[in-house]
Amino acid sequence: MDLSKLSGILQTEPKFRFRQVYQALYGELISDWAQASVLPLNLRERLNQDCPLDITAEISVDPGDKSSLKALLTWADGVSVETVLMRHRDGRHTICLSSQAGCPLGCAFCATGQGGFFRNLSADEIVQQFIFWARFLKQENKGESINNVVFMGMGEPFLNYEQFIKAVKILNDPEKFNLGSRRMSVSTVGIIEGIKKLSTEKLQVNLAISLHAAVDSLREQLMPIAKKYSITSILKAVDEYIRKTGRRVMFEYIMIKNVNDGEDDALALAQLMKKPLYLVNLIPYNPTGKFQASSPARIKEFKKKLESLGVAVTERHSQGRGISAACGQLAGKKK
Ligand code: SAH
Ligand code: SF4
Repeated sequence: MDLSKLSGILQTEPKFRFRQVYQALYGELISDWAQASVLPLNLRERLNQDCPLDITAEISVDPGDKSSLKALLTWADGVSVETVLMRHRDGRHTICLSSQAGCPLGCAFCATGQGGFFRNLSADEIVQQFIFWARFLKQENKGESINNVVFMGMGEPFLNYEQFIKAVKILNDPEKFNLGSRRMSVSTVGIIEGIKKLSTEKLQVNLAISLHAAVDSLREQLMPIAKKYSITSILKAVDEYIRKTGRRVMFEYIMIKNVNDGEDDALALAQLMKKPLYLVNLIPYNPTGKFQASSPARIKEFKKKLESLGVAVTERHSQGRGISAACGQLAGKKK
């Protein structure tokens, strides 16, 4: 699928064509311009030639966890990314989008980070992941749709800020997908420039920070980028974001056995996190090589400790774990 020539082609058309085209593309979710019967035949033919709508993708299902599906999307230059559909019991769906092909930040615990970096995605390529799942759900014909979007797939969204925010705006646009910005969440390692920019947007996208350690020395071992952005500097930017937006911020903390899951870690974390609009989300680690996951009992204890110290904390259940799809651990295994 490639819409880069679309606005050029529509320029010479009457204005109402834009609305017709958006309705066909984003409302009816056509996958071939021939299906857009409101458009004149010659325009449909031209669009089919210059703006192909087919998406090349391979879906995988994990026999052990049928609630999540993963798709590997591949573009004309051979670059591919993964995107995940999580089906909730109540019929709602969350999708996880990639913002980059690979990731340049090389976090030690992350399969994507260990696989290297290929390139940034364009806003259209980010949106195509949404379109792919929207078409998929439409085909199932159960009347279900995508309810939430998380930017927690491959890559660091704030290192591709312009395209990321453009994608958010396309999803949010009432003439396109009309997905409320409160239904979207972005996760960052703490790129301060990005946190600042997001706080000036008129969009209420939820912000999540990948913390994973309460002291810089440990964080630097896990996440090389921590050498550039200290915890103190990130929290300062977060506090400024909260002051400006009044919105709650989630801190992700993956539980890695004997690395960051001890009593001392909980104490140090509580020191940082005991603030009104801070929420800690404990995530079971999905082993991708180097480390092991904390036991469920350890996670429970850790959670209790934080709670007893006055921290707001939730625990993410590891949906999609079997297909290494709990977001953020997606590896372009094909490349
Ligand atoms: N680059 C961004 C967004 C993508 S990662 C970021 O790092 O925040 C989304 C989340 O998945 C991050 O919190 C990341 O730390 C986490 N993650 C990465 N590898 C994981 C793994 N193996 N198990 C569990 N969570 C993981
Ligand atoms: Fe990149 Fe996020 Fe993985 Fe770190 S955890 S390597 S920032 S995708």
